[in-house]
Amino acid sequence: MTPGTTFSRRSANPGSQAALRKLNQQRIVHTLLQAGSLTQAELSRQTGLSTATVSNIVKSMVERGLLTTAPTTSSGRRALSVSLSGDDTIAAGIDIGRSHVRVVLCTIDHKVVAERWQPLPLGHEADFALEVASGILDELLGTCGRSRSAVIGVGLGVPGPIDSRSHTVIDGTILPQWVGITVDEIQDRLKLPVRLENDANLGAIAEITWGPHKGVDNLIFVKVGTGIGSGLILDGEIFGGNVGISGEIGHLPIHEHGLICRCGNRGCLETIASTAILIELLSREPQNVRSTADIVRLAEEGDKATLRVVDDAGQALGRALAAIANLLNPRMVVIGGPLAGLGNRMLEPVRTGFMRYSSPVVFDTTELAVSSFTDRAEALGAAAIVIQEFEAVGFDT
Ligand SMILES: [Zn+2]
Repeated sequence: MTPGTTFSRRSANPGSQAALRKLNQQRIVHTLLQAGSLTQAELSRQTGLSTATVSNIVKSMVERGLLTTAPTTSSGRRALSVSLSGDDTIAAGIDIGRSHVRVVLCTIDHKVVAERWQPLPLGHEADFALEVASGILDELLGTCGRSRSAVIGVGLGVPGPIDSRSHTVIDGTILPQWVGITVDEIQDRLKLPVRLENDANLGAIAEITWGPHKGVDNLIFVKVGTGIGSGLILDGEIFGGNVGISGEIGHLPIHEHGLICRCGNRGCLETIASTAILIELLSREPQNVRSTADIVRLAEEGDKATLRVVDDAGQALGRALAAIANLLNPRMVVIGGPLAGLGNRMLEPVRTGFMRYSSPVVFDTTELAVSSFTDRAEALGAAAIVIQEFEAVGFDT
């Protein structure tokens, strides 16, 4: 894939030659991911594809640096062993937050090979954040002895809605400076193919790609940060909705006479449970909280006011999640973001709110958990969508 190429979410028309070729390529990639290296004859047997088809696809993928071949022998005959260029091929994930940027590099078999985050100043411009991200990307590639040519794509997450029609950050984000930024502009900046995605969607993808919830088909990931959003995995796929802005649970009304929210309504979940509100509520003496790390520390020390604020936030979150779970019947709800570090201190009040407002069967059959990735989930998910794209449609341009 060349710089400037946009990832497509869906493959070409089902049944078309291009779609068939992509499907065949996907079978070859999956088979090699599981088996390591195979001869072309073995690939043909295991995928059910003809030797001519395998040979054609392998040749094209070798030319694009996605597969490598080496001479070998099989049953005494000369053969060609085929393997993924996994160690040389890198998927990059970038997570942009209100005050941080994180970059991870993964091989296409999901091994994280390098990772670093850096604070960003509040109110940063998009150009500045992309410049910092680009610098970290080059630095990380250097530390693992790769160059930019090894990067097959970049997943980039931002904490706000992305219009799936125009691949543009739209109003509603907690980063107003990013509104109107398009995937094309980001690609021009990074000089690499980019897929732009909402950060909570990426968290959800990270949960079903790595870790203890790998492979769960129906999962809701809630990112609790300065804003609150959710990523919905339904039947194994991200559910984007009509124009890609599903999952905005931060604006579910909880208290009719609550505080005015940044969206203009009153008493939204965000006015009770966002990290910005928690920090504000605990900002005075003696707690003097300035960051989510302060909240986690004080809660661990058993500070009563901190625990009370976390308890209120957790119960409100549980109530909002019950409404979603009653509607969608997920198997799991995973809470991510910096407060995931609170573990059970966060989970218990969420469970209380969830129990009160969910139907009994939904409560009995829905597992609640905090993310084991804490604030890494979004960047990991960003790398995962690049790998997903590779597996699903390859890198035809
Ligand atoms: Zn709101």
